[in-house]
Amino acid sequence: MKILVLNAGSSSQKSCLYYIPDDDRSKTVITQLWSGSIDWTKQQGMATIEVESNGVVLEETKKTDDRLAVMERLLNTMCEGDNAILESWEEIDFVGHRIVHGGSRYQKPTWITEEVKSAIAQLASLAPNHNPANLQGIKLMEELLPNPSQVAVFDTAFHSQMPTEATIYPLPYHWYEQGIRRYGFHGISHQYCAQQTAKLLKQPLDKLRLITCHLGNGASLAAIKNSYSIDTTMGFTPLEGLMMGTRCGSIDPGILIYLLREQELTADQIDEMLNKESGLKGISGMASDMRTITEAMQENKERAQLAFDAYIHYLCRQIGAMAASLEGFDVLVFTAGVGENSAIVRQETCQRLQYLGVHLDIEKNRDSPNNEDIAADQSQVRVLVLHTDEDCAIAQAVWQLAQVKG
Ligand code: ADP
Repeated sequence: MKILVLNAGSSSQKSCLYYIPDDDRSKTVITQLWSGSIDWTKQQGMATIEVESNGVVLEETKKTDDRLAVMERLLNTMCEGDNAILESWEEIDFVGHRIVHGGSRYQKPTWITEEVKSAIAQLASLAPNHNPANLQGIKLMEELLPNPSQVAVFDTAFHSQMPTEATIYPLPYHWYEQGIRRYGFHGISHQYCAQQTAKLLKQPLDKLRLITCHLGNGASLAAIKNSYSIDTTMGFTPLEGLMMGTRCGSIDPGILIYLLREQELTADQIDEMLNKESGLKGISGMASDMRTITEAMQENKERAQLAFDAYIHYLCRQIGAMAASLEGFDVLVFTAGVGENSAIVRQETCQRLQYLGVHLDIEKNRDSPNNEDIAADQSQVRVLVLHTDEDCAIAQAVWQLAQVKG
């Protein structure tokens, strides 16, 4: 069975084509046939396309903001040129989409129907940078494939079992009834890492209490118990929680009232400042990328050091909050760009968590760990570095749904 996965970000588009044998009951044999990405952040108004298949790497740049046209070019490389791996589009059996916001209603992977599409469109006001891009991808596949079978895999779903006290904000109740509540995001990644943890430690997932730290450009934590997320740091939008690359995370809402009243900023200006000009970038005044920040620290750049210290402060503070929700934890997982690659972030974090029974093996931590336990032998809490693979998780979810359909 060939499954195409489309994973649309606000300024990126990742896509992968997978092959999973129809009789693969264990879901372990999954082959990536083709992968492609579009990045709109490298140069203003330019899209950088990268494709890899057949051992051939293609890189090209297109001067356009037309997302649909660039996506079509990217996907066409599956059927034409040196990267071609399909005779025709009809060979694609299913398409899986990462849908960022599924609201309260969508709690598991779902076949895409007209009703599902209009729900995704309605939820666009809660995820304006993602849900419209997701819909574009769905519609493009409807044009390219004769009879597409498409599946929506929601980033909010894994958090849908959180207890009400963890989803409600202490606000007037009628706002909760209107949908102003905590949803949580990065669910596909948190769930994938939880499952990988159980495999790596050879223990049943429902017996483990985990804190998963997804630290990429966007960052969030999940507190996982009985195989589900019972608390998480992102909320109504992906702005709540940890300090991130360019997002502020949790701040005093009184700041917004002050900015509206005293500085007369508009909603759009505040949105831009909190989402794109805050976090590591805001404090350092330099960069949102953790690599640049840690390099600048070596050169004694004070604001870079302050940005790093604040990042660790808020990370540890929120890990403490997740530990309290779980009433203790057995495993701490680091994943995504920063979590997988930054030894210094892991070291500084774990050093402050010794009081919770977290003890790192310093050498294993430094030695570019990949899907490994890096806790010291005597540590009460296991510390794992896992490579997250949302696209592979989406393909597996589609495969599972297809089995039920028969
Ligand atoms: P996204 O949220 O866009 O999927 P990623 O998970 O790819 O992000 O993470 C991107 C971030 O990972 C970069 O901004 C960078 O800060 C960080 N990163 C990547 N490699 C390293 C590294 N070697 N050391 C420290 N940070 C890194």
